[in-house]
Amino acid sequence: MTELSSYLEDQWRRGEGRGAALYDPATGAELATASTAGLDLAAALDHARRVGGPALRAMSFAERGALLTGLSKALHAKRDELLEISTRNTGTTLKDSKFDIDGATATLAAYGDLGAELGEGTFLLDGEGLQLGRSPRFHGQHVQVPLRGVAVHINAFNFPAWGLAEKLACAFLAGMPVLSKPATGTALPAHRAAELLVESGLLPPGSFSFLCGSVGDLLDHLTPQDVVAFTGSAATARKIRAHPRVVERSVRVNAEADSLNAMVVGPDVEPGSDTWDLFLRELCREIAQKSGQKCTATRRVFLPEALIEPALEGLREGLADYPAGPPTEEGVRMGTLATPSQFPDVQAGMQQLAGVCEVAIGAIPDGDGSGGALVEPVVFVCRDPRGTPLVHELEVFGPATTLMPYSGDALEAGELVALGEGCLVATAYSDDLAFSRELLFELAPWNGRVLLGGKRIAEHSTGPGVVLPQLVHGGPGRAGGGLELGGERGLALYMQTCAVQGARPVLEKLLGSSKKD
Ligand code: NAP
Repeated sequence: MTELSSYLEDQWRRGEGRGAALYDPATGAELATASTAGLDLAAALDHARRVGGPALRAMSFAERGALLTGLSKALHAKRDELLEISTRNTGTTLKDSKFDIDGATATLAAYGDLGAELGEGTFLLDGEGLQLGRSPRFHGQHVQVPLRGVAVHINAFNFPAWGLAEKLACAFLAGMPVLSKPATGTALPAHRAAELLVESGLLPPGSFSFLCGSVGDLLDHLTPQDVVAFTGSAATARKIRAHPRVVERSVRVNAEADSLNAMVVGPDVEPGSDTWDLFLRELCREIAQKSGQKCTATRRVFLPEALIEPALEGLREGLADYPAGPPTEEGVRMGTLATPSQFPDVQAGMQQLAGVCEVAIGAIPDGDGSGGALVEPVVFVCRDPRGTPLVHELEVFGPATTLMPYSGDALEAGELVALGEGCLVATAYSDDLAFSRELLFELAPWNGRVLLGGKRIAEHSTGPGVVLPQLVHGGPGRAGGGLELGGERGLALYMQTCAVQGARPVLEKLLGSSKKD
């Protein structure tokens, strides 16, 4: 049995005792164990602050970018092995495993390119300089400098490699050392990725730590210059925010939590049109890709009443293209849930939804999932979205979505989406500009990202489920209130904005050379 180690103070270290088990969710076979008991996490954080921070801060953006490019290549060189591990430990088909592994290398590479663009500086100028008094002499300039602590990354089980890479890319480029902790149940791909990063020989000493297993007393040792970037459930996000050390030291916390993402179909969209077909194609993908275990998956769909039956018809046909089964079996396009323990959670959530909605497609899974955490897609219909709070509150983290009617009015659609109290993404399908405009500004305050789907992008859209490094990821309220990625915006989490005041020539001399043109 493989016992997974943690990489702390530039050494691989094994925790005491047996620790938690990791499984193949398709067979239930135990794959490995991971323990963090007895590891000195205070010393690990201290080492990262003392050794890793100065090493990264001494590098220019271009050098940090080159480091990220090198790390991306190191992972890509072992792509096949990572894909196999991903399928074995997370139950995903080859195509869905690529989503995690290639997403990781692509995000590292994108931030590598950004580093090259930012050039030889080591800090960022934030906006233009400002005249502060009557005389142009008294001048102000905002700058962003890397924080002096550790970027503590706590990731969810559904994207073990991408979660590690997307957070690390922003922190490294900003100039902060990283301690990355994957969700224990699916830690194998992240563990192998961590080994590859270390083996690459590219990492500056102290810049990277990897905690494999329970979080232990890690948060007890945080300082005001540290940052916690968390992805996972809203319940754990609350615990981290309320942690006494985090509260006492005002530790910066970014949370990406669960969310009930939505699609709205405009009244102008006719069944059979390009926009309709795009909607159905993207909704099927959102339900089936990674068995619906994406934070960005669409959980709620609002359509004019008359479009509900045609949508169900289209979904029956479209979902037939995603035969479910063990991920390595011939012809299977939808694998299992990521961990055996997800099965009872998804089953219970579907049962709760079935208590208030019609089950229109599929069936709630029976049994206990011990023969494989396999769940077929289930589509619910809720005829009274305003009178059914549960459909806006309960995120079933599996292949499930709920169709609901609305009048065709953009304002009403916006109000219904807002009942989810904050989402990562919403998609509006319409070719009517006036409707799209009204809906966009209803959706924007409640969503981190809005995709305007229509015939003009039918051939180009990557769908709402794909998080791109150029665009921000995160959403208000229920979605955690966080912000990651978005190109240069993603660096802000790891930097302090400082307003510098002084004589204009002095400021220009000291700061002027930061960001390269
Ligand atoms: P989770 O149970 O909240 O766990 C997430 C991470 O937090 C894991 O690494 C976990 O470690 C750790 N953790 C657990 N208790 C902790 C504590 N008291 N203090 C600090 N860390 C703690 O969530 P999950 O079940 O892995 O993820 C599923 C949820 O994540 C879904 O609801 C999904 O919507 C959401 N999600 C959101 C995004 C996004 O970007 N917004 C992306 C993916 C998933 P252990 O595994 O060792 O317990």
